[in-house]
Amino acid sequence: MLKKGLSVAFALMTLLFLVVACNNQEPKDRNTNSAPTSEKNGQDMKEEPEEEDVTLPETTLHKTDQGESVQSLQEILNKVGYSLTVDGEFNAMTTWAITDFQMQQEGMDVSGIYNKATKEALRKSLENESSIEPASGLAKPDNDKSTVSNPHEILALVNKEHALPADFVPRNLVKPDVRFPFTGSVPKMQMRQVAADALEEMFQAGDNAGIDLFAQSGYRSYDRQDAIFASNVAQHGEKVANTFSARPGESEHQSGLTMDVTSPDIGYELTVEFGETDEGKWVQQHAAEYGFIIRYPKGKKKITKYQYEPWHLRYVGQDAAKEIMQKGLTLEEYLGVK
Ligand SMILES: [Zn+2]
Repeated sequence: MLKKGLSVAFALMTLLFLVVACNNQEPKDRNTNSAPTSEKNGQDMKEEPEEEDVTLPETTLHKTDQGESVQSLQEILNKVGYSLTVDGEFNAMTTWAITDFQMQQEGMDVSGIYNKATKEALRKSLENESSIEPASGLAKPDNDKSTVSNPHEILALVNKEHALPADFVPRNLVKPDVRFPFTGSVPKMQMRQVAADALEEMFQAGDNAGIDLFAQSGYRSYDRQDAIFASNVAQHGEKVANTFSARPGESEHQSGLTMDVTSPDIGYELTVEFGETDEGKWVQQHAAEYGFIIRYPKGKKKITKYQYEPWHLRYVGQDAAKEIMQKGLTLEEYLGVK
């Protein structure tokens, strides 16, 4: 009986020893033999689908663009934290996400346009080198179509139906290094950096072509526009004033993307005669190469609600500007918005 008990105890101890030994050995086996393979497989499985799914588009993309590259961009934006509908349409929400993302990147130009710099920053975000928080740069657009919910984007539509918020002041307002028919330093000399750079290039090209362009009026604050409109109403009555002057918030000049240009031949005034000067003709032909459009073209008053203004240049970026000017469109028509 005792002997049997001893042998059972011995058997149990042996079993216990084996279990302990096996437990010790098992992780060792994993580490030495199977570990490298499974680790490698794990890595491959983790990364390959991501690279296949997400390709950062190579081309510049902006509002109204459509297709597979826009779809990839939307998928990438969702990966870094947004919740966009992946439909391949560069719509207001996609523009908002790009703008909001850009506003969270230090020193980045805010345009709502997907470009090289945005691509690079998105790549870093994907690699977790930087984190972003959706809507912490710019609030998500609401459904109120009468106010411009994203005034930072280059293709923002500002007109009598879409007003800029009263408190909107563009970031990066600078004075472009171009000729003005007056001296000093006043707010209306300013434009947003991106538009100012483009204006400088355009003036340089104009100089090379032998024309004599002058910049007359750029950025205008909400309050300044308020005063101007009130003065025009007092002089001409509200109905007439509304055909050539904008109510506060409804002026593109508040966007910082606009510059009125003129020439010595017409005494530096802003009149339709500018269109007949060498400078006016040159601008009509070449402004798009620098990202500008004639915002209020001839014969489009029904759409723009403004008479022809050959002097009023609006920066929209080169891609959009070329299409708009070549096809003779208004910004409203280009964006499919009325
Ligand atoms: Zn103007």
